[in-house]
Amino acid sequence: MLLGAIADDFTGATDLCSMLVRGGMRTVQLIGVPPRDQAPPDADAVVVALKSRTAPVRQAVDDSLAALKWLQAGGTRQYFFKYCSTFDSTEQGNIGPVADALVDALGCGFALACPAFPTNARTVYQGYLFAGGNLLNESGMEHHPLTPMTDANLVRVLSRQTEGAVGLVNFATVDRGAHAIRDAMTRLKEQGRRYAIVDAITDAHLLAIGEAAASHALITGGSGVAMGLPENFRRAGVLPVRDDPAALPRLEGACAVVAGSCSRTTLAQLGYARNHVPVFDLDPLETPDAAALTDAALAWSSDKIGSKPLVIAASASPEKVALLQSRLGRDQAGALVEDAVAGIAAGLVERGVRRLVVAGGETSGAVAGRLGVRSLRIGGEIDPGVPWTYASGSGPELMLALKSGNFGATDFFLKAFRVLEAEP
Ligand code: ADP
Repeated sequence: MLLGAIADDFTGATDLCSMLVRGGMRTVQLIGVPPRDQAPPDADAVVVALKSRTAPVRQAVDDSLAALKWLQAGGTRQYFFKYCSTFDSTEQGNIGPVADALVDALGCGFALACPAFPTNARTVYQGYLFAGGNLLNESGMEHHPLTPMTDANLVRVLSRQTEGAVGLVNFATVDRGAHAIRDAMTRLKEQGRRYAIVDAITDAHLLAIGEAAASHALITGGSGVAMGLPENFRRAGVLPVRDDPAALPRLEGACAVVAGSCSRTTLAQLGYARNHVPVFDLDPLETPDAAALTDAALAWSSDKIGSKPLVIAASASPEKVALLQSRLGRDQAGALVEDAVAGIAAGLVERGVRRLVVAGGETSGAVAGRLGVRSLRIGGEIDPGVPWTYASGSGPELMLALKSGNFGATDFFLKAFRVLEAEP
């Protein structure tokens, strides 16, 4: 295990995994901290996915330290703390307190902090984070329900979350390349800074930052800054050139899609699927009962389960979602539908489905939890940001694709299975 990462949420962890696989590392995502005696998987990189982004500070710190301890026992060479590319956090944390605890536990005294991800239009200039070309606090993130970001200056934002001093490696330095960045970070550490926000507006910057951090015990940031890390390990002679880091075992079995995302992208993907494969729509307004919804969907599916995909969707228009929420309350409505979709996924697996696509971030969490999934080996991407994975845990082994609502092209639900068939 060369790189051990701790991610503060589930889909963010998958995002980092995909980045590492693209860089040539065989990568496994673990869901939650594994039991102490669980052996590390056969992989170059392991990403432990926590739910610590919005957890109480103490819990986020404890979970992150437990993950670190487990990774350390596996002999990891370098550690990565992955947070969102929009630096999602509050005045209390959790980025600062978790990073403090990791720096302390590793005794490294210093870590860089870089959430930039130019491919997704997240850039950092003079310490200011831009999202989609706007300052973070004018990007819509200032209205985020849980982590409103009202200040784009990351030196200030991180300073409020830590007692450590925060410095900046600015664009002019970063643009001069890895040596200049390394020297600047060394100087900041000597001056007593615990963190350096590092500017980056292109992938070339991220690659240079990665190279400059080759000897760092801990790196913190979005998945973008992991781009340069695989090459460090190859340069050091510890990572062989892998022919196919995304290779997964082949698994035969029936195919299905379950959808709980109501995003515009997912609704369009469902519209496309309707013209090609059987689709069953759950109606939680008519039947606000998870068990009854599950039974109806599974009864419908009984003569359709096979190698041709079937689709079961709770996804609905904003008006219908608003209506259910006004009747049940927002949390209750979400929980009802997640419960139904998770029950349906479990029923489909019982009936022989082994290749399953799940649409929706929260929905994916609920389904993975119900299926007892503990570990995902990351395969090739179906569309950017959505890989097939080989899932194992307390239930049967499965091919799982967990799609965040807004991801994927219009034909995603069909393409996902075509990609598997095309593999040797
Ligand atoms: P996304 O990735 O698009 O945000 P999520 O799965 O994270 O998707 O969130 C979608 C939420 O909407 C889930 O909590 C899901 O249970 C809920 N939901 C899905 N269908 C409906 C519906 N018809 N009415 C109300 N809520 C719904």
